[in-house]
Amino acid sequence: MNGAKCAHEGCDCQVQANGQYGKYCSEHCKDAKGMTELRCGCPHPACRV
Ligand SMILES: [Zn+2]
Ligand SMILES: [Zn+2]
Ligand SMILES: [Zn+2]
Repeated sequence: MNGAKCAHEGCDCQVQANGQYGKYCSEHCKDAKGMTELRCGCPHPACRV
């Protein structure tokens, strides 16, 4: 299975099934779990508008 969305609320990144951050797209989202962010601060283009 691939094309899963990042598990962090507010993040719209796609996550690789075997990504190094598990169900998160980046270390940022992994650290931010439990926090509510209006805008995701991960370093991926999808979230840096
Ligand atoms: Zn994001
Ligand atoms: Zn994310
Ligand atoms: Zn991301």
